[in-house]
Amino acid sequence: MSVMRKVLLAMSTSTFLREQATKRSFVRKSVSAFMPGEKVEDALGAATSLAPQRINTILTRLGEGVTRLDEAERVTQHYLDVLDKVKAAGLDAQISVKPTQLGLDLDKELCYRNLQRLVDRAAERGNFVWIDMESSPYVDPTLELYRRARSRTARVGIALQAYLYRTEKDVESLIPLGAAIRIVKGAYLEPPEVAFPKKSDVDANYFKLCTRLLAADARKPGAILHIATHDIPLADRLAAYITQNKVPESAYEFAMLYGIQRGQQARLARDGKRLRVLISYGEYWFPWYMRRLAERPANVWFALRQMLP
Ligand SMILES: Cc1cc2nc3c(=O)[nH]c(=O)nc-3n(C[C@H](O)[C@H](O)[C@H](O)COP(=O)(O)OP(=O)(O)OC[C@H]3O[C@@H](n4cnc5c(N)ncnc54)[C@H](O)[C@@H]3O)c2cc1C
Repeated sequence: MSVMRKVLLAMSTSTFLREQATKRSFVRKSVSAFMPGEKVEDALGAATSLAPQRINTILTRLGEGVTRLDEAERVTQHYLDVLDKVKAAGLDAQISVKPTQLGLDLDKELCYRNLQRLVDRAAERGNFVWIDMESSPYVDPTLELYRRARSRTARVGIALQAYLYRTEKDVESLIPLGAAIRIVKGAYLEPPEVAFPKKSDVDANYFKLCTRLLAADARKPGAILHIATHDIPLADRLAAYITQNKVPESAYEFAMLYGIQRGQQARLARDGKRLRVLISYGEYWFPWYMRRLAERPANVWFALRQMLP
């Protein structure tokens, strides 16, 4: 892992830097490359403008590690309302939530109940809830939340990270459930005891996990793979695998983040590939933004350029 990536990921957890950065207009300006705005209306507007390109979306309100029960309740209410707004707008826009936004650090049962409320509302509205994966200590409780929710409905999916050694086993354990799984490389600072330190190993594991999930015996009712990456050579290799192995379209979708690889997003959609773009919004963007910078150090220069007149 590069020194720059480590530094940026370490900075992402600093409260002092978060408070400073959110006040600076040049930082806010550079954040706008990755999010259409802080309000849910901004995200819904972006989703509406992507729809004619046959690009569907996933909406996520930034925030993590809530420290008060009333905050977890507010987040849950917010997402219930988003599910209603999406239905009213006639959009194909799913939602994605972080367990620590729903109160996982405060009370596991309450977090599950909040998730269940969202999943039930999504089922009523014909929608779908994704559960983000946070840093490695949260993997077990997040899997537990997912398994419980999945035992009630197929309208819920989970993100798993290719940089973790354990993910291969987690994938095998979820396959019999008919799980909706989003494979990502992983965005947090993890020690070499739990995660591959070398990017080439993460990339190789990503391909391995996706091909496992695309295999005929993994395609159970309810299962779908989200190939969530901006790594175009890797996505193209997987697209070639899909063609070669005649994997049905219903078994997978590509997924990318708003504002990243826009040209490639348009290309995938033009080629008739199923693509979802995850749109983030909200005021609590600092840790998320630092993770985006860490993914591509060139973004740091982009951010610094915003400081120039
Ligand atoms: C839909 C979606 C959901 C996600 N959910 C989670 C989650 O729940 N948990 C989690 O840990 N992580 C999540 N991530 C983030 C993920 O783990 C990676 O950190 C992120 O996607 C970067 O990895 P990559 O696969 O794009 O490949 P990389 O090898 O990092 O990048 C490949 C290429 O993509 C471009 N690129 C990548 N990132 C950026 C960027 N920030 N700015 C500009 N260009 C960039 C660059 O050209 C780079 O060379 C999610 C990502 C996506 C797309």
